[in-house]
Amino acid sequence: MPASVERAAAAGAPARGWVGVGPQLAGRLAKLDIRGPDDLLLHLPLRYEDETRLTRIRDARPGVAGQFQVQVLSTEISARPRRQLVARVEDASGGLVLRFLNFYPSLQKQLVPGAWLRIFGEVRDGFFGAEMIHPRLRVVSEDEPLPDSLTPIYPTTAGLAQSALRKLIDRQLRVDRVAEPLPPMLLERLGLMGFDAALRTLHHPPPDADPAALEDRSHPAWQRIKFDEVLAQQISLRRAYAARRQRNAPQLVATGALTGALLDSLPFTLTGAQQRAWGEIATDLASPHPMQRLLQGDVGSGKTIVAALAMLHAAEAGFQAALMAPTEILAEQHYLKLAEWLPPLGIQVAWLSGSQKKRERTAMQALLASGEAMLAVGTHALIEDPVAFPRLGLAVVDEQHRFGVRQRLSLREKGFDGASPHMLMMSATPIPRTLAMSYYADLDVSVLDELPPGRTPIVTKLVSDARREEVIARVRDACVAGRQAYWVCPLIEESEALQLQTATETFEVLAAALPALRVGLLHGRMKPAEKAATMAAFVAGELQLLVATTVIEVGVDVPNASMMVIEHAERFGLAQLHQLRGRVGRGSAESVCILIYAQPLSQTGRQRLKVIFEHTDGFEIAREDLHLRGPGEFVGARQSGVPLLRFADLEADAALVETARKVAERLQTEAPQRADMLLSRWFAGREGLLRA
Ligand code: ADP
Ligand code: MG
Repeated sequence: MPASVERAAAAGAPARGWVGVGPQLAGRLAKLDIRGPDDLLLHLPLRYEDETRLTRIRDARPGVAGQFQVQVLSTEISARPRRQLVARVEDASGGLVLRFLNFYPSLQKQLVPGAWLRIFGEVRDGFFGAEMIHPRLRVVSEDEPLPDSLTPIYPTTAGLAQSALRKLIDRQLRVDRVAEPLPPMLLERLGLMGFDAALRTLHHPPPDADPAALEDRSHPAWQRIKFDEVLAQQISLRRAYAARRQRNAPQLVATGALTGALLDSLPFTLTGAQQRAWGEIATDLASPHPMQRLLQGDVGSGKTIVAALAMLHAAEAGFQAALMAPTEILAEQHYLKLAEWLPPLGIQVAWLSGSQKKRERTAMQALLASGEAMLAVGTHALIEDPVAFPRLGLAVVDEQHRFGVRQRLSLREKGFDGASPHMLMMSATPIPRTLAMSYYADLDVSVLDELPPGRTPIVTKLVSDARREEVIARVRDACVAGRQAYWVCPLIEESEALQLQTATETFEVLAAALPALRVGLLHGRMKPAEKAATMAAFVAGELQLLVATTVIEVGVDVPNASMMVIEHAERFGLAQLHQLRGRVGRGSAESVCILIYAQPLSQTGRQRLKVIFEHTDGFEIAREDLHLRGPGEFVGARQSGVPLLRFADLEADAALVETARKVAERLQTEAPQRADMLLSRWFAGREGLLRA
């Protein structure tokens, strides 16, 4: 160890260098995301092995790993049943055979008769009697003392042995005292242990540490580490939020004349939740900093009208607004809605999609460029290059989690005169509170937690595919009674071609079985114009039954449709089932969702169907979904660009997130240098992601 490092350590100051890490080793460590001493010390054990005790061979229990100290009796290379190294060993209580199917000559040299070994593994009954296959082993002296703490097992990578990694970490622990980011008073108030002590405990738990608490990470040392991790995340989110408040946006000051007229023209009045959300949005739009608001509301809660009001508000203030949707079908539905609501108020709406004819597109672009059209609706065609909004004041993104960070950013960059446009993101995928607090903490959120009145609840039925005929009969009855129905074809994830084929076949079978009905087919491979025509025919009631793939999943709104059949429902994810079911129950007729499943059901398939059967509230379903899948996979979470948590678990550690949120606020204002320390310790070099 260099003298300077030793001095620094002795003085209690942190030694900021690596100890004994050359370029090659640094490369391997980088694969584990270890880029400096802080990362090394935060590379915490996955689990522990108990080498503090010895088990006698006679007491070994099958299936339970233990440590034994044995002496070698003999070693031979046996040819049968295949070439292998076989060593007979014993302790005072009995004998055991060790078998190695792969071995180096060096191993054979270690296993000389009379040598003492510490072996770690499971004893089982085998070919040669009691035996152990490929035990972890170490040659020791007969009276070598046992370690007095649990042995950490670290995540590692090819070319980096567990023992080498362990040595490296231990060496760093010896020279480094890890600085404490939190003031002593706070630690005391929260009942948290010191950071340095927590790290040392996790790398080398004391003999009396509760193994179960280490295992399930409820141990106070784990609590401390996880707290700092969520705290760092909260701080970085706050900073991103603050940075946004520094940017400029056009201040959209409106008279309320147009929005008032729109409200007057509607056949319904806004729900309380819609009014609240609209009020929050209007306030944001009038501020000189860009709004970044998520409008979250379960399927059918009425987000579109709120978006329309916001867009109209922008137009009133003399600015343009764009609404972007992830699919043609959804974008077109929005367009049709806006084209019904707004032109009577003297507001032109432009339509832009990837599939439209070049001439039409150029004409639309011209309308936008001249400012003649103040509002635009479309797919991602909206953000493609030549589309210029000379005065874009507001960008609305529907089903925002379906877009990548970059696509959302490029809308933002279309701002007017160096300012950023206001952003309104909409999502029907409810985000459980803990997830919202971490992944979306840099957004303001308005929630539509109330459905428009007059909806009858959807009845969900689970039906085995053996009873398909009955389902077909129910569809016929409903359609004959003047209702409309969807029939969603099975999801075939492996092959789009197969999915298409299934959809076509299902369509043919149903059309033949239901000759009295007008049946249509909708799938992702149809030309956009065909899709639009089919959808329009269904909206107009010309088609009674729509056989479809999941293209109808998002946003389709046909109030007269009151029956939804989903085939092979067990293959769909919970969020998807909830979205699909939400296509019905939009009018006043009693709605039914029939989930046809095929036997045998997998464990998760069964759990998912149970959840969707028992719950209609999207938040409840999302919570269950989070529970079943974990947050990493949660829709959009990755795309939000926020660093994922390594140690904390948003569900199990929800209380920590709550506390961290409050502490983050105070630390940020009262001790920013401590906040800096946390950020660089946890996210050094990774924060850029947050800006998105
Ligand atoms: P989502 O939130 O799923 O996007 P939509 O905006 O498509 O929901 O609204 C669903 C349906 O409810 C639409 O037909 C819409 O016109 C209607 N709607 C919206 N708000 C109200 C309301 N306050 N009262 C009655 N119907 C409403
Ligand atoms: Mg919608």
